Amino acid sequence: MSARTGNDPAMWSRLIGQETAVRILRDAVASGAPGHAYLFVGPQGVGRELAAMALAASLNCPDGGCGVCDVCARVLRRAHPDVYTIAPEGAQILVDQVRTVRENAYLSPYEGRVKVFLFEDAHRLNPAASNALLKVLEEPPGDVVFVLVTESPEDLLPTVVSRCRRVDFFPLGPAEIERVLVTQHDAEPSLASWAARTGGDLSTALRFVKDPGAPERRRAHLDIPGRLVRSGPSESVRIAAELAEEAAAAVSALTKRQKDELARHLEAFGDARATGAARKRVEDRHKREARRTETEVYDSALRDVASFYRDVLLAGAGVPDDALVNTEMAERLRRAAAVADPAWLVGALERIEDTRRALARNVQAVLALEAIFMELGTPRARAGAR
Ligand SMILES: [Zn+2]
Repeated sequence: MSARTGNDPAMWSRLIGQETAVRILRDAVASGAPGHAYLFVGPQGVGRELAAMALAASLNCPDGGCGVCDVCARVLRRAHPDVYTIAPEGAQILVDQVRTVRENAYLSPYEGRVKVFLFEDAHRLNPAASNALLKVLEEPPGDVVFVLVTESPEDLLPTVVSRCRRVDFFPLGPAEIERVLVTQHDAEPSLASWAARTGGDLSTALRFVKDPGAPERRRAHLDIPGRLVRSGPSESVRIAAELAEEAAAAVSALTKRQKDELARHLEAFGDARATGAARKRVEDRHKREARRTETEVYDSALRDVASFYRDVLLAGAGVPDDALVNTEMAERLRRAAAVADPAWLVGALERIEDTRRALARNVQAVLALEAIFMELGTPRARAGAR
């Protein structure tokens, strides 16, 4: 990507399909008074965090967000000392996290002009944390911008919401996802097309493209319903164990990358003032990433399994093959549809959703997986089938 002029900062051009949000934010920056608090509302994986990073870069980069300089690069890597990410510890953002934010907010920036505090999943601010944040929002320091990212603004304290400027982000269609993958991530076009259709959102599709093992693992996940029916309840224990192994491998690959990042980070922070706090921030983020990576493995397996049952349901309703997600196995899906009870399929999809939600709340993953697979192992037949 080449450097652009100040009129077309490259950081903003990374956002695809969010023209309104980009216009609002760029106008705000251009006005010289960008405002102190934003609420970025929209589903996961559509560029909300990237927009926050573009905003942070455009406020701190000497060229207004060129996308190529050291400042922009570090903002994008979340390794800039004036850009803070606050994410839930477990299920909630805690008041201690907001207290740390408040302390940092009143310090001058380490090296940039404006400190940016990005709150991921801001609807998970617990009541005490919300009230602590509200106090800062009521009297924000001049060189600070807060960005609260959420998919459910109704779960935030209304007084917090009313202090923020709302910016809406919209879901990307498969064609937009495909375009992002090809133009920004050099994805091979047929892989991008497959990932865009099956991933559902940009971050998932991107993972599929970046990770050469992903298609193979997806095939294995799609095999789970068949294995359960063929081999009975003991198979659910085996499958849960396999997924736990898959998660452990993903976390260990991540840990390796994190070690490299920490080494780079310590090198970047020669300044004694920054080292301790910055190192702790990186390490905290790494812990959260590890937890998230593990959950994400289970979640993607369950989504794949759900896509199988959804396709069976659709196939049973007579939709054409190209309306299915897993077109490559249409034949198998139609065979399953001939015998499966649609009401059982709907129930199965609901139970998978429940399990995904439970896993996001840090329940005992392996036990939850064994339980759901046990249930899926005894499908009910359609009336008159067999
Ligand atoms: Zn720059």
